[in-house]
Parts: sequence; structure tokens; C-alpha cells
Amino acid sequence: MSSATSEPLSIIIQPKITTAKKHPHLQKSNLCLLHLCNHLREAQQIHALMIKSSQITDPYSAGRMSEFYALSTSGSLHDAEKVLESLRQPPIFIYNIIMRGHLINRTPLNSLKLYHQSLVNSIYPDHFTFTFVLKACTHLRELGIGRQLHSHVVKLGFGSSAHIRNKLIHMYAVVGRMEDAHKVFEKSSVQDAVAWNSMLEGYAFNGDGGSLHQFFHRMKQRDVVSWNTVIAFFVETGKYEEAMAVFRSMQESRECFPNRITVVSILSAVTHLGALGHGKWLHAYIARRGIELDENLSSALINMYSKCGFIEGAVHVFEAKQWKKVDNWNAMIAGFTSNGHSLKAIKLFSEMLAARMNPNEISFACVLNACSHGGLVEEGKEYFRKMTSSYGLKPDMGHYGCLVDLFSRAGLFDEAEKMIEGMPMKPDAVMWKALMGACRIYRNFELGEKAGYRLIEAAPEDHACYVLLSNIYAMNHDWHGVHTVRKMMLDRGVRKVPGCSSIELDGVSHEFIAGNASHGSKRELYEMLEEMKESLRVAGYEPDTTQVLLDIEEEELKESSLSQHSEKLAIAFGLVSTSPGTTLRVVKNLRVCGDCHSAIKLLSKIYGRDIIVRDSSRFHCFSRGFCSCGDYW
Ligand code: ZN
Ligand code: ZN
Repeated sequence: MSSATSEPLSIIIQPKITTAKKHPHLQKSNLCLLHLCNHLREAQQIHALMIKSSQITDPYSAGRMSEFYALSTSGSLHDAEKVLESLRQPPIFIYNIIMRGHLINRTPLNSLKLYHQSLVNSIYPDHFTFTFVLKACTHLRELGIGRQLHSHVVKLGFGSSAHIRNKLIHMYAVVGRMEDAHKVFEKSSVQDAVAWNSMLEGYAFNGDGGSLHQFFHRMKQRDVVSWNTVIAFFVETGKYEEAMAVFRSMQESRECFPNRITVVSILSAVTHLGALGHGKWLHAYIARRGIELDENLSSALINMYSKCGFIEGAVHVFEAKQWKKVDNWNAMIAGFTSNGHSLKAIKLFSEMLAARMNPNEISFACVLNACSHGGLVEEGKEYFRKMTSSYGLKPDMGHYGCLVDLFSRAGLFDEAEKMIEGMPMKPDAVMWKALMGACRIYRNFELGEKAGYRLIEAAPEDHACYVLLSNIYAMNHDWHGVHTVRKMMLDRGVRKVPGCSSIELDGVSHEFIAGNASHGSKRELYEMLEEMKESLRVAGYEPDTTQVLLDIEEEELKESSLSQHSEKLAIAFGLVSTSPGTTLRVVKNLRVCGDCHSAIKLLSKIYGRDIIVRDSSRFHCFSRGFCSCGDYW
């Protein structure tokens, strides 16, 4: 390491006759001018003046200059480093400014390089320096350098700083070293809320639910950040029921009030569960607590209502929103589409344009989706063209997918294939699934088979892909094909995910697994299932057994397994547990099968109920013997 007197790398401004130093008001006026700068060119001119007058050797002026270069939007980190190089003994705060600039500019490695350079020049780091370099290390996930920095922190006496300690915990957590994070945590004399929360976030980040849970219960002082971390963890890992439970205990504990972040997380859980009752309660809660409905939250509400099949609620939120932003429009257009109101979705898109709102990529995905659901081929083609020609937006996989969907739903298989051949990216599973869905409807076995194999190629782990291909073979009575697919699945060890549906009654969600009618009210459930079967038979309904994988051979068995699909169990339970006329809302983890779809259509007519089923791909609003999806899903 060189001494402090060693020559810096670049030009040194020799202190000579200095007009500015003689005239402090000139120094001041240069800094005032800098304050007014908006462009890099202007700043560079002031920089030149400062060099000419040697003002740049003044640490304060050099600091201000590098601050402009490193932190303002019209800056240049290259110029900031020039300022640094021009100083014989640059103070640490200038290093810090530029390190921070590199973090903002997402070039964290350069922050670390600067730190190294400061050490070479024997400039001692301060509190801020460690904040920045530890952050850089966290971004880079550099455990080795992180450990070295940790030892510098201890050696230079910064180990007791709560702020630096929390940065260390965060760094260790992000690189997956929770034991080390825990050591730092345990060793610190004062464990503040931030330290506890950093540990909690670390466990959540590393997906360690067990330790997260334990640690959370050990916490003496839990604030809204702690609760939010646990709720977000459950939502992100798909454990929505657990997230709701934590939210309930948060309210019961009275430790703190839920804030906007809590509400957005819980809304997402409610949306996934399709739990409209909870959603409505949450909406009222937001109003009562005076939480501002910004673009994000209002869009989340619109999304929740439409995904729970309550489109009136979504429209209400949308219309009440005063200054509608693009996300609000997108959420409402998507909501109309997913509830089977394609024409309303397209009309809303035109209103959006008329309101001089600039549509983005998502807006076009929404409107193209509406076109494909509504079978509006010409409109869809026109929007797709306009997207690039009028708005300069580049279509991505989703947009191409919508168009392929649009063509195949309309039975225009040549155009769909041409689209797939001509697109700049490799088609994904969603696209093949869309094509296969249409092949099933149009009984296009040849293309269905071809698409089926491409689909399995694109998502070899997904059980549903094999089922789709097997169904195509089964419809064509090609049992050899069915067996081939089944064998392929077994050979590859692809596991069948059990169908699972839930229905919410009076705020309690009841779950049903396919083929398993074990529930509290078991006898009534069986009786209802029998009654449903009988009334379906009377209505002239015949079970479509072609869509059952050949793991069950005999027709009778196939039929009984069909009548125990999870959505049917949930509906049976809903029918016995609610008063006549009540809408039933069911959420299913897989796609609803063809047989259940036709059965539910009839059930909605027989029992005079609206039945809303959200499966893994879309919404089905069954009413009076029809489904909003128009039998495409
Ligand atoms: Zn089914
Ligand atoms: Zn449907």
C-alpha cells in the first residue's frame, strides 16, 4: 500500500495564482451557478472554470462538483471520477458520493473498486462508506468480499453502529448465510426493531418458513414491518390461508395497524383464494382506515373483484377513482374480459384512447385478449398492427400468444400456424395450450397431436400437458396414443397433481380434494352428489368419459371418478349449505375438465344458481345453462 504522499493517478492541479481564492465571492458564484445547472454541458463549463481558478482543490467545491456529476440525473460518473483524480488527498466524503452514484447507476462493482482505491491512497473509510460498500456487496452477492468488509468494520471500530450491523445482517442473509447473520445479530449489544426485522426478512428471503415462524414468535417488539414480512412470505409462497390467518392475529394482537403494504399483500391472497367476502370486508376496512386508493391499490381492488367474479364491484371501484391511471384502465379491461364481457372490454379500450390515455404493452395484451375471447378476428389484427405503427410498442410473447389464440379459437389454424412460424421468439407452453384447446373444440386431431408434442417439449414437467394430449387422442378414440402418452408420463416420473377446489361460505373456506368426499357433513354431501347425478341424468346428460386418463379402465369406475372431481364436491357442498338462489364461488387449482364444464352448465340451470368457478386458466360464470367462457378455455 502506498503512503498518503504518493502521486494520484491523474493530473494534479497545481495551486498557482488563484483568482477565486483571493475572491471568495467568485467561488460562491460558481457554486450558485452549479446549483442552477440542468445539463451536463453547463456543469462541465463550471468545472472548467473551477479548474482554471484552482477552486477545484477546495474540498467543499470539489464535493459539490462531484455530487452534481454522481447523483443528478444529467450527471456523468466518469466526470465525477475525474474530479476525484484531480485531488491530491481527496476527502472520504467525495469517495462516498461517487460510491453512492455507482449504486444508483447499478454498477456496484465500481463502488467496491473505489473503496479499494481509497484504501490504497490511505484514506480512512467512515460510517457512510461502509453503508455503501456493504450495499454494493449485497447487490453483487459477494460473500468473500463481504467477509473482508466485515473484518474492516470490526478492525476500524464501527462494529457497534446499529446501522452498519443491520447492513451486515442483510448482506449475510442475501448471500444465504443465515448462521452468520444470526451471529452478527446475537453479538450486537442493542437489538433494535430494524435488526429484528432484518433477520426476519433474511429468513423470508431464504424461504426458511420454520425459522421465520420461530423468530417471529421470539420477537418482543413487533411492528408493522415485521407483520408485513411474514404475511408477504406466505403470499409469495402461495400459502394464502396462512397469510389470512397471520393478518387476523395481527388485528387481534393490537400491536400495530395494518398499512398499505399489508392491505396490498392481503388483497393478493384474497384474490387467489377467490374469497369475495374477505375482499369486501377489506375494501370497507381500507375506506374506514382512510388508506389512500392510489393507482396500485385501486387496481388491486378492481382485480380482486373481477377475479372473484363480482364485476359490479370492480366497475364501482373503477368509476369512483378520480384520476384514473393506465393500470386502472388495464385492470378494468382485463376484468371485463375474464368475466366474459369482451365487447365491454373493447369499448373501454376505445374510451381509454378517447380520454387521451396512452396505452402500454399491458393495455394491448388486455384488449387483444378481449378480441380473442370475443372472436373478433379483424379487430384483433388491427390492434396488433396499431400497437407498433401508432404507439411504437414491441409485441412480446404474450401479444403473439393472444393472436395465436384469436386465430385458433376462430378455427383459422393456417393463420395461427403462420403466426407461430413467423414470430421472433420460441413459442411457449401457453401458446401451445391455446392451440390445443381450439383443436379439441374443432376436433382437429392432426394439428392437436403436433401441438401436443411441442407443448410437452416446452413444459415436460407439467402434468396438465400430458393430459391435454391424451384427451386429444381419447376424443379420436386412438387408445394406442393414449397409452403412449401415459407411458411417457410414467417413464419421466411426471406426477399427477390432485385436483383441489375450495368454496367460501360465511368467511370460512372449505377445501375438497378429487375423489375424497371426506368432510364434516359427509352424509349430506354424498346424498347431494347422488341427487346431482340423478338430476343430471334426468336432464339427459351423459358423462363424457373420454377425458379421463386411462388409469381407470372400466366405464362405471370412470364415471364415479368423474362425479367426484373436486369442483363437483365443492358445488355439492355449496348446494346443501346455502339457501336457494345464493351464488356459489369455487376456486380450482387445475383447469376444469370438459365433463365438469358441461355438468356445471346444466347444474346452474337445474338448481337455478349462478356458479362461478375460477380454474387455473380463467373464470367461468355458469348461469342458466351457459358459461361466460363460451366453452373456450
Ligand atoms: Zn372435472
Ligand atoms: Zn366456462
